[in-house]
Amino acid sequence: MDIPTLYAANLVVLFIFASCFAALARRIANAPYWRSWATANLLLAAALIAYSLEARLPLSSIYILPNFLLMLGFAYHVHAARQICGSSYDGSVFWGPLAALAVATLPAMVLGDYRLVYLGTNMLVTGLAVNAMWTYLHAGRQGLISAYGMLGAFSLMAIEGLIRTVHGLVLDPSADAGLRSNIVLTTHLFTSLVFSALTGACALCLSFEQKAHDYRDASRRDPLTGIFNRREFERQLARLVAAQDYPFAVVQFDIDHFKSVNDRYGHVIGDRILEEFAELIETHLRDHDCFARLGGEEFAVLMPNVSEANAIKIAERLRSLVSGHIFDFADEDLRITVSAGVFHGTGANRTPDGIMKAVDECLYRSKNAGRNRVSVSRPHTSAEEAAA
Ligand code: GH3
Ligand code: MG
Ligand code: MG
Repeated sequence: MDIPTLYAANLVVLFIFASCFAALARRIANAPYWRSWATANLLLAAALIAYSLEARLPLSSIYILPNFLLMLGFAYHVHAARQICGSSYDGSVFWGPLAALAVATLPAMVLGDYRLVYLGTNMLVTGLAVNAMWTYLHAGRQGLISAYGMLGAFSLMAIEGLIRTVHGLVLDPSADAGLRSNIVLTTHLFTSLVFSALTGACALCLSFEQKAHDYRDASRRDPLTGIFNRREFERQLARLVAAQDYPFAVVQFDIDHFKSVNDRYGHVIGDRILEEFAELIETHLRDHDCFARLGGEEFAVLMPNVSEANAIKIAERLRSLVSGHIFDFADEDLRITVSAGVFHGTGANRTPDGIMKAVDECLYRSKNAGRNRVSVSRPHTSAEEAAA
């Protein structure tokens, strides 16, 4: 492709995606990255137009206009990457490179040495591309496959930026302002075209992939406490039961006399107690334990690969943790207790319903024996007996 065609192809791709992103920014609330991506594309398109008009621009504009537009375009790309990956706002992404470019531009203009701007721009583009790569690598590791497409696009830009930085170092000092070499320009425009197409397509995929991930996660969670819900608990239990010979434990908790807590302090405080209770237990479990709210004030923990003695010890420890915890929502010290039932075994010759029935029976034994205690599925009858 000749240079004018490459310029045109780049602009077409950038404008198409900018319009898509702008339309999505108008339609979808709470997704500020669409606006940032649209802005990034428009700035990159403006930079390309400015580069293509270099021969007609006054010399001072050649030093400043295209390079600053390019830098700002990449800064918006990094900003969008941070937004979609949930990182906090970092203003230095904008002012850092712009200030650095200003520092390179001033002496370049005074000395009439365009290489300084060329070097500065390419070093900064490389730095911003590496910044975006890092952000997308993190998102990719968290399971967003399209983030690897973004990582590829920014890697390409980082490699090209690096090559151009080296090119800047060996550039003839008497070189005119602007890009005069056809090979360099063709390579750059072709890389930019691949970059714009790849980032545009991956931005769309990434956002929809992230939304799907959010919805899937929401369908597994209890809205009040944020821990897993009954559906997810049953799914994980069924998987362990199907494995047949894999040892696991189920501990079910029921808060004692919670109705009277509600009656005394009101449902709002009751809800906050449920939230804090869930947080308290969750921080004391292993990452791969499944802690779920089965409904109301009933909770359960599914512990894969644990011995019976350890499962009982953990249940007892959690029970005593809860009874020793002070909930400071009311003027007076507010404490609660829980009763628990424990099942330990494998899925061999058992069904999930049978296991939950066995745990429930243990739980009721704890309630009938006076509450605030742990009972273990037969042959053991209580935590004390099991530990003996
Ligand atoms: P026990 O020791 O026998 O378990 O007594 P209890 O009062 O805890 O038992 P019961 O099952 O009779 O009552 C459970 C109460 O939990 C009833 C309801 O007021 C309360 N509850 C259930 N879900 C919620 C909830 O989402 N928020 C609040 N605040 N309370 C809830
Ligand atoms: Mg109950
Ligand atoms: Mg209860």
